[in-house]
Amino acid sequence: MSKIFVTQPSLPPLKDYVALLEKIWETKHITNNGKFHKQFERELSSYLKVENLSLFTNGTLALVIALQALRITGEVITTPYSFVATTHALHWNGIKPVFCDINEHDFNINPDKIESLITPKTTAIMPVHVYGNPCDNEKIQRIADIYGLKIIYDAAHAFGVEQNNKTILNWGDLSILSFHATKTFNTVEGGAIISKDEKLKKRIDYLKNFGIVNETTVVGYGINAKMNELIAAYGLLQIKNIDNEIQKRKQKTNLYRKFIKNINGISIYSDFENTKHNYSYFPILIDKNKFGKTRDDMYQILKNNNIFARRYFYPLISQLPAYRGLGSAKKSNLPIAIKTAEQILCLPLYAELENKTIEFIVNLIRLKDCS
Ligand SMILES: *Cc1c(COP(=O)(O)O)cnc(C)c1O
Repeated sequence: MSKIFVTQPSLPPLKDYVALLEKIWETKHITNNGKFHKQFERELSSYLKVENLSLFTNGTLALVIALQALRITGEVITTPYSFVATTHALHWNGIKPVFCDINEHDFNINPDKIESLITPKTTAIMPVHVYGNPCDNEKIQRIADIYGLKIIYDAAHAFGVEQNNKTILNWGDLSILSFHATKTFNTVEGGAIISKDEKLKKRIDYLKNFGIVNETTVVGYGINAKMNELIAAYGLLQIKNIDNEIQKRKQKTNLYRKFIKNINGISIYSDFENTKHNYSYFPILIDKNKFGKTRDDMYQILKNNNIFARRYFYPLISQLPAYRGLGSAKKSNLPIAIKTAEQILCLPLYAELENKTIEFIVNLIRLKDCS
């Protein structure tokens, strides 16, 4: 069998893309807020039901600039259970990350543990909607309101996620998205910031283009994080396919759920109430005491059979050499995150994943000894 990776990007039809490229070749307008960039911002805002969206060259620079735009300094309370870019973005702004433990039911920052981590230096909270699971946004907002903190959501996994028919991307002061090849909605590389108001969007748009306002005016300390026309055109085509992409991922997810039911020691997750998920990942937890094998055993068995599942998110960010010296990185502060990182395994999930492959993967888990 050929190699099966944890994800596989969906690409737009090549013919359609070539047609748009021909238009770019005609005008030779290849970057700097061209026609496709403007159209992509408009159409994406409308699809996501948000008002102030700025496109970026990737999600990490969107995170870095989101913190700059809000002038965040000092300490920021965040989660260690994420992709490393979340915390790196803080470091690149000279901000000290303070790690908070997570919930068992959604893998997100536990709002009940935030308050005890607040110091006079705390200026913001940076939660992550892990696997696209919505955070407890109301509770987080209440804490931020009481202590006068900003909230920057790393919504890299949360493209299109809604609760009670409302996007979750309008919570907090800013949300950032990633359109990296591995994400449900991809533009090869890409990202966005969603801001509360027009003024903030304008600031962000200056910051991602050197601070340039016009030929003779430069404000602040901008950088270059713009999306170009070739990528914007690609993104426009991806919008046409995203509902189909999510629908197919939902079918695959439900198939996994059906097959995996009742395997002792394996935990799976159902859809949340009143939530429109995007089915970005299929995480399972492996409890070695009940299952009889460790997560790493199972990871290896799958690998030996050409199935490349991923341990997102192991190791925890707080366990990396760059961050493990921090006070908040100590084990007693993060018991649930540590336990989860030891048990988690994300199984392959993408639109073109074949049903028989899902069956094969689940059989390997059931048999658990065919190395
Ligand atoms: C992918 C990802 C990012 C970074 O996005 P890039 O577009 O790859 O720079 C940030 N945070 C999380 C949680 C991610 O999964």
